[in-house]
Amino acid sequence: MAAFKDKSVLVLGGSRGIGAAIVRRFAKDGARVVFTYSGSPDAAHTLARETGTTAVQTDSADRDAVIARVRDSGPLDILVVNAGIGVFGDALDLNPDDIDRLLAINVHAPYHASVEAARQMPEDGRIIVIGSVNGDRMPVPGMAAYALSKSALQGMARGLARDFGPRGITINVVQPGPIDTDANPADGPMKEVLHSFMAIKRHGRSDEVAAMVAYLAGPDAGFVTGAMHTIDGAFGA
Ligand code: NDP
Repeated sequence: MAAFKDKSVLVLGGSRGIGAAIVRRFAKDGARVVFTYSGSPDAAHTLARETGTTAVQTDSADRDAVIARVRDSGPLDILVVNAGIGVFGDALDLNPDDIDRLLAINVHAPYHASVEAARQMPEDGRIIVIGSVNGDRMPVPGMAAYALSKSALQGMARGLARDFGPRGITINVVQPGPIDTDANPADGPMKEVLHSFMAIKRHGRSDEVAAMVAYLAGPDAGFVTGAMHTIDGAFGA
């Protein structure tokens, strides 16, 4: 199957978890995939070798490095911004520098990368950002900064959809619920409380999220833009 044959794809944050599944999906479907990593060079190079993709180190907390990476990638058919972190705990105790770093990675990088990609993107270009159902629903304490960062992506997508729509470029947010990754293992300590909010009482799989990304990146989704696409077992329902 070569649904994305010869399409140029950049995935920001592709070394592990959901990002790695997205890299695998586009590679399987024939795309030319470059992905970034920051702290996991071994995982990144193993994935690149297995999938025939290219891994490049770029810290999403470094705004200018992110802009340069997107610019130097040339005209992209598809940009996926997946890199994201959580900083969890009592809001009164958390280090403000850690919160600013979270906002740099989860909010500033998606904005600047999306704008930079749109400069060179051809008509029918696709921008997909990985948000979270926590942008809509935050049922536990200690995650306010994370929720803030993911709801910020909603306003970004709505606004940039207006800016880029006339050029045929779409931008959408995929909002996963609990997905089994290093950041949120299916057998982790939050399992029971997370599943208590859900209609389908299991963690999702990264490849299920990648399938939604592939739909939004494909030719059937040309009329879908400025929208949030939740995949969460009804966590947010
Ligand atoms: P993981 O922690 O398992 O993986 C995170 C990925 O992002 C890694 O490839 C990591 O690369 C990359 N990354 C993190 N920080 C940076 C950085 N500063 N620069 C470049 N790359 C970076 O997370 P998930 O796969 O679980 O999450 C992926 C996305 O999905 C995030 O945006 C997250 O908020 C979102 N999400 C996840 C959910 C879940 O339950 N798992 C639920 C809802 C949303 P490296 O290790 O090389 O630094």
